[in-house]
Amino acid sequence: MYLPKKDVLMSHVSGKAAMRIWHPCTQMKDHEKHPPVFIDRGQGIYLYDRQGKSYIDAISSWWVNLFGHANPRIAKAVTEQLTRLEHVIFAGCTHAPAEELAERLLAVVPEGLTRVFFADNGSCAVEAALKMSHAYWRNLGRPEKCKFIYLSNGYHGETAGALGVCGDRLYAAPFTPLVVPQIEVVGPECHACPLGLARESCAAECFGGMEAAIKAHADELSGVIIEPLVQCAGSFRMHPPAYLAKLRQATTAAGCHLIADEIAVGFGRTGTMFACQQAAITPDFMCLSKGITSGTLPLSVVLTGDAVFDAFYHDYHDDKAFLHSHSYTGNPLACAAACETLRIFEEDDVIIANRPKITHLQAAVRQRFAGHKHVSDIRSTGWITAVSLAADPAAGRPFDERDRTGFRIYREAIKRGAWLRNLGDMIYFMPPYVITLEEIDRLTDIALDAVEAVLG
Ligand SMILES: *Cc1c(COP(=O)(O)O)cnc(C)c1O
Repeated sequence: MYLPKKDVLMSHVSGKAAMRIWHPCTQMKDHEKHPPVFIDRGQGIYLYDRQGKSYIDAISSWWVNLFGHANPRIAKAVTEQLTRLEHVIFAGCTHAPAEELAERLLAVVPEGLTRVFFADNGSCAVEAALKMSHAYWRNLGRPEKCKFIYLSNGYHGETAGALGVCGDRLYAAPFTPLVVPQIEVVGPECHACPLGLARESCAAECFGGMEAAIKAHADELSGVIIEPLVQCAGSFRMHPPAYLAKLRQATTAAGCHLIADEIAVGFGRTGTMFACQQAAITPDFMCLSKGITSGTLPLSVVLTGDAVFDAFYHDYHDDKAFLHSHSYTGNPLACAAACETLRIFEEDDVIIANRPKITHLQAAVRQRFAGHKHVSDIRSTGWITAVSLAADPAAGRPFDERDRTGFRIYREAIKRGAWLRNLGDMIYFMPPYVITLEEIDRLTDIALDAVEAVLG
């Protein structure tokens, strides 16, 4: 007979369970001193722990939540789908939520993207795009086109293939022997422009290095992958649309693909529905995830145009089909959440309605942090505003890493009721779109209090 071990079964009561679960991106020893916060429920922009204390979710639960926790519209859509069809094999079958989602997506993405491939998380969408890009060239008789250019500080997920195109080596370095090396090119460093140009008047004059690399590697190059407008995990480095426009031109001229990883910036984060739209470009591949289900369920897609699709369209005896599959591909519940997300965008005119909130958030952060003695830079694109902190900004001297300044600010913000997870010695704001102007003021007040509690 099967009998669970009693001490294990009761460990969630004794508090030992916390150490049995291995949390992501976490030094587990930290939890000896700071056990994970037990979140009991969520409502709108707030998370509530078991004692009923609330936290403003300032970073949208790792950038996924758009319309608040336990959103009733999304909940209803998922619940209705749950009692009809929870999942079905996606090879040989299709279903209404996937069909509707494909239609809704293709109606809002850049012109020329006409096909939707499903996966179930961001990293896997990147894997699928890299494989599809190379397989395209192989199907055309150019198997030597198998390399990818990525930008320094770029982040594209943490599966082995995706790590090969991560410029943020923090995540890839420990796994070097497992990762296929690709080609790194120095990306834009607009917050400290080496050419001394102001962001407003810049025409991506720094693009020369990228252009030269694309030309030099054209014969072996499958594609170039970029996070359009904002490298989120890469310390929120931001570049102007002009850089994307030049990249589109250069990749087309060299005969290689442009892969736009809009996993973090898609669905309104940069102020437009998709970041590529600010440069009026259509990439050959667009990867979407995170906000796609409003942060309800895991789902991702890779979008392509007809040219890519047609290269895989063949008779069975000459099979060139795209071999890539996940058990939960096209999960109906996730697709239902994504359909409802896109309905909210349309019916509530979200992109327009967001504008005053974006302006207010950017101004509120500047008001509180500009001129602060430890602030070295404040930068914003749409909903994303990041504040970098340094021991001596004027001298360019960072804090000693062992001080864990950012982490301590994060802890202070938690005490004060805001989930403001740091990125190194940087704090950033990327709240759900349902935040109000008053809540923006409260959140930025808490952030300043937390910074002052640590830095005086
Ligand atoms: C989060 C992220 C990914 C990876 O997505 P996961 O769902 O975490 O695997 C890839 N690219 C970008 C730009 C991201 O921000």
